[in-house]
Amino acid sequence: GRYYEFKKTITTCPYCGVGCQLELRTKNNKIIQVGSVYNENSPNPHGESCVKGRFGYDFVNHPDRLTDPLIKRNGHFEKVSWEEALDYVAEKLLNIRGKYGSDSIGGLSSAKCTNEENYIMQKFMRAVIGTNSVDHCARLCHASTVVGLGMAFGSGAMTNSISEIEGSDVIFVIGSNPTENHPVIGSKIKKAKKNGTHLIVADPRKIELSEIADISLHHKPGTDVALINGIMNVIVNEGLLDKKFIEERTEGFESYIKVIEGYTPSKVSQITGVPADKIIEAAKMFGLAEKAAIYFAMGITQHKYGTNNVLSLTNLALLTGNVGFESTGVNPLRGQNNVQGACDVGALSDVYPGYQKVSDPKIREKFENYWGVKLTDREGLTLTEMFEEAGKKIKALYIMGENPFLSDPDQDHVKKALESLDFLIVQDIFLTESAQFADVVLPAASFAEKEGTFTNTERRIQRVRKAVNSPGRAKADWEILTKLANKMGYEMKYNSPSEIMDEIAQVSKLYGGISYERLEKGGLQWPCPDVNHPGTKYLHKDGFSRGKGKFFPVEFAPPEKEADEKYNFTLMTGRMLYHFHTGTMTRRSYPIDKHEPDSYVEINIEDAKKLGIKDKDRVRITSPQGTVETYAKVGQRVQPGQLFMPFHYAESPANKLTNRVYDLKAKIPELKITPVKLEKV
Ligand code: SF4
Repeated sequence: GRYYEFKKTITTCPYCGVGCQLELRTKNNKIIQVGSVYNENSPNPHGESCVKGRFGYDFVNHPDRLTDPLIKRNGHFEKVSWEEALDYVAEKLLNIRGKYGSDSIGGLSSAKCTNEENYIMQKFMRAVIGTNSVDHCARLCHASTVVGLGMAFGSGAMTNSISEIEGSDVIFVIGSNPTENHPVIGSKIKKAKKNGTHLIVADPRKIELSEIADISLHHKPGTDVALINGIMNVIVNEGLLDKKFIEERTEGFESYIKVIEGYTPSKVSQITGVPADKIIEAAKMFGLAEKAAIYFAMGITQHKYGTNNVLSLTNLALLTGNVGFESTGVNPLRGQNNVQGACDVGALSDVYPGYQKVSDPKIREKFENYWGVKLTDREGLTLTEMFEEAGKKIKALYIMGENPFLSDPDQDHVKKALESLDFLIVQDIFLTESAQFADVVLPAASFAEKEGTFTNTERRIQRVRKAVNSPGRAKADWEILTKLANKMGYEMKYNSPSEIMDEIAQVSKLYGGISYERLEKGGLQWPCPDVNHPGTKYLHKDGFSRGKGKFFPVEFAPPEKEADEKYNFTLMTGRMLYHFHTGTMTRRSYPIDKHEPDSYVEINIEDAKKLGIKDKDRVRITSPQGTVETYAKVGQRVQPGQLFMPFHYAESPANKLTNRVYDLKAKIPELKITPVKLEKV
């Protein structure tokens, strides 16, 4: 096709949290190409994108798309009308609620869906069902960030902006592999490095950024607190702390500093395996910088001590006065396109939209008035707790756009949980591995078939626009939920997602000034409290959201389960460039799937030699939770004794192996550490 023959629609990438703006070029209701968008008010002003955004769109028109509602009868799915499906769901949910109470029903909202849909999902669970048990996969990725940053600064989001990367003197990347997982941010970090920014990378694996870093540290998985405490110990001893900042803008320094004294470089070296001189070098580089920024992701968060890891990073930023200024900050890179937004609009068990606590009676009353209904004061269950309680407290689950069978820890446990429910509804664009367990499957619209907004990792709210029609009878998630609410006796009347956004703006100050009209010109970053507010590039400029920034004394503690004689390798899981999460979209996008059609496990060359394993051999990995076979990728990306496996592949599901060990405060699972054994098949 020729460019002028296409219909062109500007929208937001459905993959990672960078939130690149893309131009969908369509013809005859089909996406033919994806082109660049040049907009200053976006994370990719020069039209940058990665392979997923550019070539990962085949899934939209894929023949596997769900076209009709399905009800399972005698073990088989039967196509039914919307009327029949929604009547059935309404009746079942009302029955279960009547028999076991509102808290017997749980809802999983989705980081893939729009803000408007997440808002409606949490409103549906709270106002229609009557429970706070609504959560989503942020629980699995950045729950510890939201808790940790909230405790230290008062706001759980990325403090600074993507455009500020190039202005930092030092960038410290820890537990994050942005060139694969947030590629446009990865390339901005590389560009900054080329232009003179110093780069420190700490990661158990040798990632691409380790290769170009000024200082590259490879600490043992699960020793982050020790490493960061060691860096701070040197900063204090070298007098590189920012005394004025600490005095004026922080609290809790005295009890914190007592802990830091014990983390000498030699002690930390023993714990982490990083040479003491490298710790000293990294500390000096970070401490001497005028503007130092910290970037992190799941390598920090997915641990039993994930919240403590995050608090170590907030301590480091406070100690050196690197927060509240441009090109500094503590910057979690959010994984999915709308995981930030799903949290913002209240798809979390403990907060209403805008992080307003459900436990606060005044706030509850406010929402009772907005929504015209009595709301429960009982606490809700988190995602991980809902799976622990399935078949016990939880009798029915409503899953919108998530695939826990592949994404959640310990697959056998997830399977048992899904099977033990009285009633399971899955709403998705494909019959996912999780949807196979459902009693009712509701066909949803993909990102290219609906209006809405996503909020990217830098708090930027951007438009999602309809480019093509949905296949068959598939509908946008917000439409399905509002229809169901009406059937269940609670009136929800919205003519469009724009009206839902107006309601979000009304109930939450963070989004107070957001409207579709304003978003026409490009994205706006929250906090954006009123219609004249230009949005906020970086947080805590005029003081922290909680008042003063707070230091927390954090001691190192080893992971709950470590490699032993029987399970002598430490397995880490994660993502890769070409695939996304449970692969529902990328594995149905031929141009990218062909690059990585098979799952693999990275094995260090020394271990491979000892076990007689060659590159591409079939290997078997076993943990106390289960066994998985896959291909060996022999090299030096992982250290001896460590393995790395992507979790995208249903045929070799990494989460069949992972542990159900949870962070005590945030309930995030320790997906980065599972002791396993390895054999050649
Ligand atoms: Fe999409 Fe992320 Fe790639 Fe940008 S970097 S095109 S948002 S996957």
